[in-house]
Amino acid sequence: MSDLDDDRNSAIAILARGLQGALEHAAAGGIDHLPRPAFAAPRASMPVAPAATPRAPSAPVRPPPVAAPPATPPATPRVASAPLPVVPPPIGGAAAEAIAAILASEATNADKLEKLRTEVIGECTRCKLHRGRSRLVFGVGNPNAALVFVGEGPGADEDRQGIPFVGKAGQLLTKMIEAMGFRRDDVYICNVVKCRPPSNRDPEPDEVLACEPFLQAQLAILHPLVIVALGRHAAQTLLRSKTPITRLRGGWQEYRGIPLMPTYHPSYLLREETDPSKTRKREAWSDLQEVMKVFGKDRAN
Ligand code: SF4
Repeated sequence: MSDLDDDRNSAIAILARGLQGALEHAAAGGIDHLPRPAFAAPRASMPVAPAATPRAPSAPVRPPPVAAPPATPPATPRVASAPLPVVPPPIGGAAAEAIAAILASEATNADKLEKLRTEVIGECTRCKLHRGRSRLVFGVGNPNAALVFVGEGPGADEDRQGIPFVGKAGQLLTKMIEAMGFRRDDVYICNVVKCRPPSNRDPEPDEVLACEPFLQAQLAILHPLVIVALGRHAAQTLLRSKTPITRLRGGWQEYRGIPLMPTYHPSYLLREETDPSKTRKREAWSDLQEVMKVFGKDRAN
């Protein structure tokens, strides 16, 4: 068997495990069938996992709850809404207990994220980055997103506006998301650290240690089908790896059972704009095309 076959089989195994978990949770929640994704309409809501995938036969099936139809349908139908197993994050005291309670609650993802932001993080001073921030940058996007992008930390524009990826790199990320067949509002975007490192330096280990529980909680609430790690710092933090991004990118990894695709940070791609070969941009697009395959977007575009 060739290396290519090994890589492909490894990627399929990771995706299958994530998908099986989502399907088992859906079945346990009384969902006994999945809507067929609208692959032919690139601007439609994000599709769920491929409809042909069989539901786990051993999962118990309960009758679906009887409920009045919502006035407006949810923006993003999806399979995976289950929180990850409640793992106490590496922070102590009331914050850890509050996060565990949020993860275990029956609230909507939007409410859980709001509670995390307001009741747990608040005007956080847990690391030295709080001293230089104008606004804390929590995250933005669809609270039921099946696709989540994780960057490194806020820059100057993000610090001013309190929204991740709104500067030049953010504009490029938005173009990348749209080129994939999604709208920016379909996905969720956040960073490893929530406050701007001075002069856009890399976050330091103590800052990541202090802030990462909030990212872990966000991802546990969102429990997307796929995570895209943007850049070395996000990829290495989520994967607990020291491997350079040039070697991590392009291959499926796994974060707590969720398929994760590492690729270059948009700001790195902007720095490469003077490179006539556009090698890094081509590589990043190749990485994103792998993600598009999971959602059937490669066939829609
Ligand atoms: S970076 Fe994170 S841990 Fe540090 S002050 Fe900001 S929110 Fe708190």
